[in-house]
Order: sequence, then structure tokens, then C-alpha cells
Amino acid sequence: MTAAFLTQISETLASIEAEGMMKRERLITSPQGGRITVEHAGQQRENVVNLCANNYLGLADHPALIAVAKDSYDAHGFGMASVRFICGTQDIHRQLEQRLAAFLGKEDSILFAACFDANAAVFEPLLGPEDAIISDALNHASIIDGIRLCKARRYRYSNSDMDDLEAKLKEARNSGARHIMIATDGVFSMDGYLANLPDVTNLAQKYAALVMVDDCHATGFMGPQGRGMAAHYGVDVDILTGTFGKALGGAIGGYIAGPQAVIDLLRQRARPYLFSNSLPPAMVIAALAALDLVEAGDDLRWQLFENTKYWRDGLASLGFDLLDGEHPIVPVMLGDARLSQQMATKLFDHGVYVAGFFFPVVPKGAARIRTQMNAALTKTDLDFALDGFAKAGRAVGAIS
Ligand SMILES: *Cc1c(COP(=O)(O)O)cnc(C)c1O
Repeated sequence: MTAAFLTQISETLASIEAEGMMKRERLITSPQGGRITVEHAGQQRENVVNLCANNYLGLADHPALIAVAKDSYDAHGFGMASVRFICGTQDIHRQLEQRLAAFLGKEDSILFAACFDANAAVFEPLLGPEDAIISDALNHASIIDGIRLCKARRYRYSNSDMDDLEAKLKEARNSGARHIMIATDGVFSMDGYLANLPDVTNLAQKYAALVMVDDCHATGFMGPQGRGMAAHYGVDVDILTGTFGKALGGAIGGYIAGPQAVIDLLRQRARPYLFSNSLPPAMVIAALAALDLVEAGDDLRWQLFENTKYWRDGLASLGFDLLDGEHPIVPVMLGDARLSQQMATKLFDHGVYVAGFFFPVVPKGAARIRTQMNAALTKTDLDFALDGFAKAGRAVGAIS
């Protein structure tokens, strides 16, 4: 290690600190859930209401998932110590892939260690330099990285701007692209806005393009039976990616679902699949149990959207400025970055755990606290959190 190298790294850290951009991680000492214990200033803060997990259906500490995961260690062992194609495929891995494909209305699916890997994997084997990818400007970092790894020509359209998407489709067609793929998040997670899949799929048809949707913030709870954003709109998209790390248990794992030939080729060529370990059996078994719960009925989804409505109405009547929407992501707009940090700190004093988001994660002047509802929160939790928002909001002058 050279001194010059370490000096440069330290300077970068110092500049992150000076810009007020240093991320600090608070330690949770309980399971993830609606109420958590958080270590703060050397003390355990119990029963903190958690409003920033992607735990939409409240499955992160669900007894059914924990029970099957425990049992799986006896029946299937701890780890696979192999990639899938050498000796890392158990019966349950194929079961999960087929089950998931049926749930999503696709011919087959393929598992990855995370959706980050699925998005890193999906473009490069399918598209070459003769092809084009048109990507929404607000797509998740993993889609951006996946596109960077692919040799196709890249176009970017302004978030959900259909005129701009059409302009880019024309440009790609005029430049002689062989295949064109539109890539979009199903839900844009900073705003909770839904992608305009009806218009995206119409434009795709008009220009003979394919559509890839990353449904991480939708699978399990948006659309009928929780089948995601395409089902929500009753449209068909070509390729889906998603995660087990959010609504479907919150542990780890990702997937790509699509036509048989596409999945077959990905199994041959997708690098994060070929050169990375197989998912642990416990995660696979628990993902199957999560799908059981998702398919068993609408109770969890009903609770989630009931909570979302109660929460939105409560915040609005306190006078907070919210972004409109129907998704369980409910952003509380504060504008100023410092204000969003002060508000988050005050909320924690009142036993409410939230995350403030500010530039460069969101545009300058659009700092916010992104709250996320989940089915594990009770009305008592929500009233407690609303009371915290009222007190914190008045203390920092965000509401009167
Ligand atoms: C969370 C998320 C990912 C990453 O998923 P992991 O399984 O945690 O890697 C990818 N895309 C979107 C849109 C996400 O929200």
C-alpha cells in the first residue's frame, strides 16, 4: 500500500464528509419488522416504528418463512458450494424457477444472487452492437450498470416522458438498429410513481421493440394477486426482473423471467449466473413459502393498501406536502436537504425510523423523507408515527 494511494482515499472520504454526504448506518438489534430495536448513542431504543424497509407484505420476520427456513437446513443443508451448472442445482431451485414463472405468466425464470446481478446479467447475452437499449433516466443503478456491460447502442429518455421515448425509438430505428429493447423500472422508487406501461408497450409495438421491466417494488403486492405492474395495467411485457429482497421475504435473491429461449440462453451466457454461487437452500425454500402466502389470498395486500391510505390521509391532514400516488411509497416533500436531515433526526427522537433523501439521489430542492408502508404495521403503530410526524414537523417548521 503506498502512502499516496491512502492519502487520496482519505481525501475522497473527507470531501464526502464535507459535502454532508457521508452515509452512517444505524444498528438494528432485533429482527426486521414493523417495530424494531435500534442501537443509538450506546443505548437500545426499543419499539421504534420502522417506515423505511421494503418489507411491503411484512414477511421479513414472518413465522411461516422462518419455520420453513429452519427445517430446510436438515433437509437441504446450509450452502451449495457451487455455481448452478456444476453441482449447485437442487430440486428446489428448479421448483422455485418454475413456480415463479407460472406466477408471473412467463415460460421460465432463472435465479440470481440478487436482482442487482439479474440486471447486470440480462442485457449483455441478449443484445449486441447491432442493437439498441432505450432506458428511462430514473432507472435503478443496476440497470444502468447492466446496460454499461452490454455492447448495444444506448439511449436514455427523460423519466416517463413518452414523447422523448418515441423520439429515441425513431432515432434507434433510423440508425438501423436490429433489435431495440426498452428498459424501465415498474415503479420509480424515489417518488413511488408507476411506470406508464400502457404507453410504453404501445410504443414498443409501434416500433417493434422489446420491453424489459424491473418489478422490484411491485412483485407480490401490485396488480391482481400481486403479479406486478404489467398485470396491474393488463399489458404484456417481454422480460421481467425482480427480487426476493423486498416484498417476497426480504432476504436475498433475484430473478429474470421471460420466454423459454431467452432464459435458456441466459443460463448459457449470463456471467453473474455462470460465475457466482447458487442461492442457499433456505432462501429458496423461504421464497417458495413467500409465494404461497402471496398466492393464498389478498389479506396481506389488503392490509398494506389499507395502511397506505390511512397513512397518506393522516399525513395530508397534518399539512405535509406529499407526492400523489397509490403505491405504498409515500414521499413527504421537504425541499431543503438540511431540513430533511433535521426532520429524520427529530423523528427518531420520537421513536420513528425514516430515511431522508436529498441531492444527488433526488433533484436539488426536492429533498424528502421517503416513507414506506407495510402490512405488519398496525393502526396503533401508524397513529404513533403520525404523532411523531406532527411533533417533528412542527419542531423543524415543516408544518404549522
Ligand atoms: C432493490 C432494487 C434492485 C436490487 O435488488 P437486490 O435484489 O437487492 O439486488 C434492483 N432494481 C430495483 C428497481 C430495486 O428497487
